[in-house]
Amino acid sequence: MRSKLIQRADLMKLASIEGLLDRRKLPILRIKTEILKTMTNRLLERGFYWILPIMLAKATDPLWPDPGASIEKRVEIEVYGVRVKATQSMIFQKRVLVSLGPEKFFIFSPNIRIERRDRAFTGRHLYEFTQLEVEIAYAKMDDVFKVYEDLIIESIKAVKEKCGEELKILGRGELRIPKTPFKVFKRRELEEEYGEDWELKLSRDLNDPAWVIDIPREFYDYEDEETGMWRNFDLILPEGYGEVISGGEREYEYEKMLRKIERDGLRRENYESILNLAKRGLLKPSAGAGLGVERFVGYVCGVRHVAEVQPFPRIPGIVSEL
Ligand code: ASP
Ligand code: MG
Repeated sequence: MRSKLIQRADLMKLASIEGLLDRRKLPILRIKTEILKTMTNRLLERGFYWILPIMLAKATDPLWPDPGASIEKRVEIEVYGVRVKATQSMIFQKRVLVSLGPEKFFIFSPNIRIERRDRAFTGRHLYEFTQLEVEIAYAKMDDVFKVYEDLIIESIKAVKEKCGEELKILGRGELRIPKTPFKVFKRRELEEEYGEDWELKLSRDLNDPAWVIDIPREFYDYEDEETGMWRNFDLILPEGYGEVISGGEREYEYEKMLRKIERDGLRRENYESILNLAKRGLLKPSAGAGLGVERFVGYVCGVRHVAEVQPFPRIPGIVSEL
């Protein structure tokens, strides 16, 4: 993908009405529809509840510490005299709901993450995107791997079967159906082989998507204190498309979460709901993840920039009228 460098002029065009007129847009939107339909149907067939997203809350994902984060501004406004944040991810809502309500569910959740403007040129970043979030009570990493491997395989199959013409127009006729189970790499070994920027280097070496486990990041992912290993993961796509899923098993113990919140320099008053539940022994262990819908569709379509799959592109640094 993206062998040529993306120029600013290309991005301006992509973000304008001209972008909507591009002959690739309609085939991409047809493929996107097919993928959304397939993923939704698979989850419904397996008994997942379908939850709709929220956009404003006092608590949202801190995105910190996260080696991949590059947020230039947090969106906060006051409503009814209360400061609320635009959703960066629904992780805390997912953790509470899975503990007190449906034990497995999915959400197509819009996230606002005001990425640094130089990230416009990576081809992989947007300042508004949608995650397909899943959370499952008492699940382990392997359970979540299986759910997403099925969604990925089935949607690629459906696209190849029903959108052959569209794939041809996009020059993507040769798209592979990956083999399952996907390979699992350990982050520490990748660091030895590739160095700190293992994500893109691994991505360029892969033929099929692969999991990477044990990634130090936000306090809500489960850390095995004996081995120092994080029971969490990313899914990396081939061809330089990079990370498309993040998730993990979750922390559920009060004292441990409190320690980690302090260690990360976060303010505990932002996490009272989940801390209180944990203190009362009501926060269930769970595992889950979120798939970046635009990145996945972008991979299937072979785009140069992930904004090509949005009718109204949200490219870092470029704000359009619509
Ligand atoms: N959705 C991710 C999760 O479930 C969190 C994130 O957005 O990075 O862990
Ligand atoms: Mg994350």
